[in-house]
Amino acid sequence: MAIDLPEVNLLLEERTPPQIAAWAAAQFGGDLVMSSSFGAESAVLLHMAIQNSPRIRVIMVDTGYLFPETYAFMESLRKRFDLNVWVYRTHQDPVKYLHDKAEAFDWRNDVDSCCGANKNEPFDRAMKELAPAAWLRGIRRDQADTRASRQIVEWSRRNNCYAISPLLPWSNRQIGLYMKEHELPYHPLVEKGYLSIGCNPLSCTRPVLPGEDPRAGRWAGKEKTECGLHVDQSLDSAKL
Ligand code: SF4
Repeated sequence: MAIDLPEVNLLLEERTPPQIAAWAAAQFGGDLVMSSSFGAESAVLLHMAIQNSPRIRVIMVDTGYLFPETYAFMESLRKRFDLNVWVYRTHQDPVKYLHDKAEAFDWRNDVDSCCGANKNEPFDRAMKELAPAAWLRGIRRDQADTRASRQIVEWSRRNNCYAISPLLPWSNRQIGLYMKEHELPYHPLVEKGYLSIGCNPLSCTRPVLPGEDPRAGRWAGKEKTECGLHVDQSLDSAKL
């Protein structure tokens, strides 16, 4: 199914995120998946998605380094929303992986390799196996410079499907209002200052200080700002 991306994006920029999620469900039906990190505000997109696609397949990558609170949060949302969660993990034993590389590989200094092995490979495998026509994701333009120019609907060459980002135009305040309106929970670590939550090691996620950017706690002190799942060669024109 080819979509005229400029036309569709023009149309969807005028719609609210719940309306965009509804458009995605109407357009792609059961051929739609979503990804969730079960992070700080993940309940928002999960809630929007299941209003129109109650059995949508939710891809969750378990890197092996997640906070115990993340697993508990996933389980509580899974029960509350009766979510259809598909957990993917690396095919490598993370302990063995580190041990084998121990002499020459300080993974804390090579976060790209660690994200590549434990996050990107399982996610790419999930997308290959599930082979959706479209993928709902929770990125927002105000989260990072790398996300500021993203379009609501893009063609993902990497995953061979459309990538749809309903929350793209929303601010923290709008997210907060939606959560309040629908009585949605934040990840339990938010109250401890973790406003963007990835993996457990302090070098990957730390609490943020008052006034800091919510993503300042991710890979703090490193150039890295993205795990890689949302880094892609995308087209802004119609699917070729
Ligand atoms: S966020 Fe950190 S621990 Fe998690 S996969 Fe990436 S580098 Fe590894």
